[in-house]
Amino acid sequence: MIGAGIVGVAIALRLQQEGRDVLLVDRERVAAQASRVNAGALAFSDILPLASPGILRKAPRWLLDPLGPLAIRPRYLPQLAPWLIRFWRASWRDRLEASTAAQAAMMDLSAAETPLMLAGAGAADMLRSDGVLHLYESEAELRASQPGWQARADHGIAFTHLHDPQAIAELQPGLSPALVAATFVPGWKTVTDPLRMVEVLAHSFEQRGGRLRRADAVALVPGVEGIAVQLRDGRSLVARRVVVAAGAWSHHLARTLNESIPLETERGYNTTLPVGAFDLKRQLTFGGHGFVVTPLACGVRVGGAVEFAGLDAPPNFARSAVLLAKAKRFMPALRTEGGSEWMGFRPSLPDSLPAIGPSVADPRVVYAFGHGHLGLTQSAATARLVADIVSGRAPQLDLAPFRPQRFGSARMRPPPPRHHGETA
Ligand SMILES: Cc1cc2nc3c(=O)[nH]c(=O)nc-3n(C[C@H](O)[C@H](O)[C@H](O)COP(=O)(O)OP(=O)(O)OC[C@H]3O[C@@H](n4cnc5c(N)ncnc54)[C@H](O)[C@@H]3O)c2cc1C
Repeated sequence: MIGAGIVGVAIALRLQQEGRDVLLVDRERVAAQASRVNAGALAFSDILPLASPGILRKAPRWLLDPLGPLAIRPRYLPQLAPWLIRFWRASWRDRLEASTAAQAAMMDLSAAETPLMLAGAGAADMLRSDGVLHLYESEAELRASQPGWQARADHGIAFTHLHDPQAIAELQPGLSPALVAATFVPGWKTVTDPLRMVEVLAHSFEQRGGRLRRADAVALVPGVEGIAVQLRDGRSLVARRVVVAAGAWSHHLARTLNESIPLETERGYNTTLPVGAFDLKRQLTFGGHGFVVTPLACGVRVGGAVEFAGLDAPPNFARSAVLLAKAKRFMPALRTEGGSEWMGFRPSLPDSLPAIGPSVADPRVVYAFGHGHLGLTQSAATARLVADIVSGRAPQLDLAPFRPQRFGSARMRPPPPRHHGETA
């Protein structure tokens, strides 16, 4: 297993529970990257791909504001262009409907598997079941989101629209009167602390005999005895199966098998304010401004936004500050001092679906990455599906929409060379 984010840890734990001998490696530590400080949502109703007519309508306005909810660093645009073309193609009606149906199936599995995963690790109390409140500044904004709600209704998701401030105040007091409408989704859940959750799962994995090691994987080399994972320090590990769950860096490893998978990073920002910064009853989302506010055991987390700038550019924390100022506008009693800022790399594919499935170069390598905004939400389901693949069981859902090679850019490698030191 490569990558000890929420996806890798969930898979490692599942495989360990099924009796496999698992070594989980990470070049840093458990939850070093995107899984560390995310918004903690189990967004089971979030079945609509980002590439949708709604987002494409809002994008030009958002892009005009350099600190707005969506930004592209100009220097990064040439590198991003092929991904953006695929993103645009993913928003066409035929693809959109197919992706929405696949995402809905993935969410049903996620909603079923997540409580089981947490309970299995003794962490059932980390689940909060108080739903989410999506907030709007006008009835027109709610009306504009109607096609999305219709799609959710078509997939059996329950929600209630609220049209007056009094009804909203019953679910969340203390909001600005500028928020005139809302949608309450009771089936959405959150976790009390996303970092703690990964740590608890990793601890459970180790307690069951799983091994966790620091190692920086640079290449995968198929051989007769197994897959050699070459490490930066020159050593290599050989395993019968390898699962790549290295978040936004996973495509670098796929490339060493001559497979090109269009993974991008949607960078996101947030600020975690101290406990008591606001009397928050449940998670709130502000879709018109691209941010969410979450009650956590470690404080109140305010953040979101999408920035395309690649894996190397330094963070621009002015983004976190802007989101905090917006939150203050809508939550006047929010105490904005004493927060800590963070930026994370969402691993994203153009159609918002993850890549789950075997490598075409060698089926002993299984890919599990690209969960974008939903890696925490879909970690338990991904673990279930990877365990199905590894065990040769029929998967819990049709994996065709999640094929890592669905963008058509995978190339078969000529017969693999034998790795150094192998006995054949
Ligand atoms: C601001 C923000 C808010 C978010 N909110 C939510 C939310 O509310 N709900 C939700 O479901 N999702 C949310 N997400 C998305 C979610 O955080 C990600 O989808 C998820 O964390 C991805 O998990 P991962 O395990 O795939 O990747 P990561 O957590 O990034 O883990 C990858 C791991 O692989 C390791 N690694 C990388 N390359 C190598 C290598 N070569 N060798 C060894 N190790 C390697 C890294 O060190 C890292 O630990 C949010 C993201 C952001 C940025």
